[in-house]
Amino acid sequence: MTEYFEVHERDGAARIGELRLAESLTTPSLVERADRRSADGASGGRRETAVLADAGSLWPAERDVPEGDESKLTVLPHRAFPGGTADEVMESFAVDYPEVDYPNAVVVAPETADDYGADGYVLSGAQEFVGHGAGFRDAVVETRSAIPADSALLLPGVATPRNVATLVYAGVDLVDADRAVVAGTQGIYLTTEGRHYLDSLDELPCACPACRQSVSEFDREDCVEHNVNALRAELAVVRERVRAGRLRDYVEGQARHDQWLTAAFREFDQQWTYVEQRTPVVRDAELAATTEDSLRRVEIQRFADRVTSRYRNRFSNPLVLVPCSAKKPYSESQSHGQYHDAIQFRGHKVSMTSPIGVVPQELELTYPAQHYDSAVTGRWSAEEKEFVARVLRRYLERNDYPRVIAHVPDEGYRDVCERVEAALDLDFEYTVEDHPTTTESLANLSSALSDELKYGKRERQHNTVRAIADYQFGERAGDDLFESITMQSRYPKLRVHDDDGEQLAAMVPQYGVLSLTLAGARRWVDSDAPTKRVEIDAFAPHGSVLAPGVVDADEDVRVGDEVVVEGPKAFAVGRASMTGPEMSESTRGIAVSVRHVEEK
Ligand SMILES: [Zn+2]
Repeated sequence: MTEYFEVHERDGAARIGELRLAESLTTPSLVERADRRSADGASGGRRETAVLADAGSLWPAERDVPEGDESKLTVLPHRAFPGGTADEVMESFAVDYPEVDYPNAVVVAPETADDYGADGYVLSGAQEFVGHGAGFRDAVVETRSAIPADSALLLPGVATPRNVATLVYAGVDLVDADRAVVAGTQGIYLTTEGRHYLDSLDELPCACPACRQSVSEFDREDCVEHNVNALRAELAVVRERVRAGRLRDYVEGQARHDQWLTAAFREFDQQWTYVEQRTPVVRDAELAATTEDSLRRVEIQRFADRVTSRYRNRFSNPLVLVPCSAKKPYSESQSHGQYHDAIQFRGHKVSMTSPIGVVPQELELTYPAQHYDSAVTGRWSAEEKEFVARVLRRYLERNDYPRVIAHVPDEGYRDVCERVEAALDLDFEYTVEDHPTTTESLANLSSALSDELKYGKRERQHNTVRAIADYQFGERAGDDLFESITMQSRYPKLRVHDDDGEQLAAMVPQYGVLSLTLAGARRWVDSDAPTKRVEIDAFAPHGSVLAPGVVDADEDVRVGDEVVVEGPKAFAVGRASMTGPEMSESTRGIAVSVRHVEEK
């Protein structure tokens, strides 16, 4: 039961939370020992975070259960173990944590982490694994998976301005300033890119209050103050990134300043289940794909996977492969306008792109196809070519076309096409001379399609909503849900109705996904497509379902998923605000944002 911590927003494993003390603290945050406050001569900013009360270790002495109160996070009497301690030893010295009614945290090791009913969990031994990519990943993943989703994870003694973004990215909610303070007393000046000995600095690369003086007057006491300020400022940057859903972009750059940090987030990329479960399926944040590591992001891999395992082409026209455009959605770019004029609904347009792979025209608005931004040079690295070729190959293995027209430039695109063509023993027709938008190239494209029939608006619209349904709900969902439909309104605000005129779904242009009505949700429940369900207590939700009202939720529900909510008193449909496991475990927070409800 977590009473004093609540998660408000999620960005992968990182979250914006609230430590609900007498004065609430927004996390990820610094927390400092309340009893050290005066000794450090804390400034105004530091008082807010001086909220930690440590009841102490049980090794030197038995200790009473502390009084505790709502102004502090009290760490209950504990026994920490050095790394490598045998399991039997940890077990026989395990602490029997008392139940208390004030904000509290307990000390755990990865091996002893469990649900102790605490609001926070202090991970011991952090100094031993912070600095090692795989060890850090194992410790955080093991601990985070064993403690309740709506509890705060505190890593003591390790945070620096440079590493804290990666710590938060991994799922850490609270850090202390111990390491920054110690570094300061040793004359080590910390920045987000590194550490500098005071006597090696020609100037102070910071504008915080402690640094508003000349470097010659700057002493170790100032250095402590600066280090803590720098840590605090970096945490604010990180919180803003999490709120914007853009921490990953930041970490890909920030972690470059230290090898172990780069190793650490790459280790997390290998930990697919942990990261995938925590990554929203849709959002309207931009995704900056600026490094090769972007290829391994959940959003990118998930899109490529769904396009090649769920999506199915329903057009009978030839495939026309074209390069992506910098402007999104592609259709609004000048080059795609020109391709469109040449194709004239006689071909099925699929865009090739790094880092997403291939984007069928029906999914151009679907997250992250219209949300990513990358350096569009066409000069792809070997790894990018390999990735796009793999996706295109899987796509063509699954979808049959009468002809494949590759309207692509040289460099990466042509390379990838030729590779896939050879691998699948297909014959692509190439229509580009020099550049895809030259008059000659466009005329080639148009004449290659001269004998093909146009598909109509109705076919285009029906195929679009069915393709999105496949992508969103699962293979063949488009046919299962929307076998017989009529359409209203115009792309991209398509509205799907049944033959009697009742609305089933609407396309949401910002994310390129469907939102269902109650009638649509009933069709979903009755269809063969896998349904995502949330079971609730006997009440009719209005606006939202809070976590305590959830009886059970499917494990595979992700943030942003369409979900059916059902209980003895209500049938509803909405969008998940937390993952399925979080809904079942959490005692606070919005689980589902409900769109439509019918009382039973
Ligand atoms: Zn400073």
